[in-house]
Amino acid sequence: MPKGKKRKFVEKRKRCGRIVGLAVCSEKDSIAFIIPIYYNFSESKYPIIVDNKKGQVNTMEKKELLYEGKAKKVYTTKHPDQLIVSYKDDATAFDGQKKGTIVGKGAINNRMTNHIFKLLEQKGVPTHLVEELNDRETVVKKVEIVPLEVIIRNYSAGSFAKKLGMEEGIKLACPTLEFSYKNDDLHDPFINSYYALALKLATQEEIDAITKYAFVVNDVMQEYFASLGIDLIDFKIEFGRLADGTIILADEVSPDTCRLWDKETHEKLDKDRFRRDLGNVEDAYNEVFRRLGIQ
Ligand code: ADP
Ligand code: UDP
Repeated sequence: MPKGKKRKFVEKRKRCGRIVGLAVCSEKDSIAFIIPIYYNFSESKYPIIVDNKKGQVNTMEKKELLYEGKAKKVYTTKHPDQLIVSYKDDATAFDGQKKGTIVGKGAINNRMTNHIFKLLEQKGVPTHLVEELNDRETVVKKVEIVPLEVIIRNYSAGSFAKKLGMEEGIKLACPTLEFSYKNDDLHDPFINSYYALALKLATQEEIDAITKYAFVVNDVMQEYFASLGIDLIDFKIEFGRLADGTIILADEVSPDTCRLWDKETHEKLDKDRFRRDLGNVEDAYNEVFRRLGIQ
C-alpha cells in the first residue's frame, strides 16, 4: 500500500462489485485504514462517507427528520440549504387507501432519479441533485416546493383515459400538460394556470418556467426511454424555488411517477402493476433499472 503525504485516498474496496470502503494512508505511517461505506439496502445508521471522485472524503449526516411522506423521508443536514432525501420501499395508491411494499423500490427510485436528473442537467434543466450518498439516500438542494403536480401525457392512460372515455395507449396528437394542486386534504384536485395564479400558488413567470422545463423534460425522457425500448406514456414532476427564487426540478422521476410501457409488448413497467394488482411488481422496477444500465 503506497505511503501518502496527508490522508491519501488510495483505492476503493469492492465486494461483489459494490464499493464498500475507501482505503486511506495516514500522514505518519504507511498503515492503511479502511473507511467503510454502507451501501446496504437499509438506511445507514452512521455518518455517510462520500468519495467525491476527486480523492477527497466528505461526510454528510442526517440531522432532523423534516418530513415523512408516502415514499420518502426528508432530513435536514448541517448545511441549511441542503437536505438528505431517503427513499422508502413503501408504496401507496388511490390517495393512500391502498398500502404495500415494493421490495428494493427505494434504491431503484433513488438511483434512477439521480441518473435521469444528471441527463436533464446536461440538457439545460436545473435540478435539485447535489450528490448520491448511497443506494437510498441523496443530498439535494433545499427548495420551497411549488404546490403543483405537473403532469405531461404522450399517450392516453389512467385518469385521462377514464375521464375522456378513451382506451389506454392511444398516442396523442401532441403532448398535454396539466396541473394538480398538491394538497393531500383536497386529494390533489385538477386545476389550471389561472387557478394557480388566483390562489397565489405560483407567479406567471414561475408557471412559464415550469411549463418550458416540463416540455424539455418530456422531450429528453421520451427520447432516452425510447432508446431503452420503452414508451413514456405519462409522468408527474414537481418543481421548487431556491432561496433566490430560481425554479428548479425537484422530487423524483421513477416508475412510481411515470408510466413506462415496453415498446414491443406494451407490458407495464411501472406502479400501475401495484395499483392494479397485475403481479410481478418488483420485476417491472428491476427491468427498468436493468435497462438504464446504471453501474
Ligand atoms: P408525498 O409528500 O407526496 O407523500 P414523498 O413521500 O415523495 O411524497 O415525500 C417527499 C416530499 O419531499 C414531497 O412532498 C416533495 O414535494 C418534497 N421534496 C422533494 N424534493 C424536495 C427538495 N429538494 N426540497 C424540499 N422538499 C422536497
Ligand atoms: N402521478 C404521480 N403522483 C400522483 C398522481 C399521478 O406520480 O399523485 C403520475 C402517475 O404515475 C402517472 C401520471 O402522474 O404517471 C398521470 O397520472 P393520472 O393523472 O393518470 O392519475 P392516476 O391514474 O395515476 O391516478
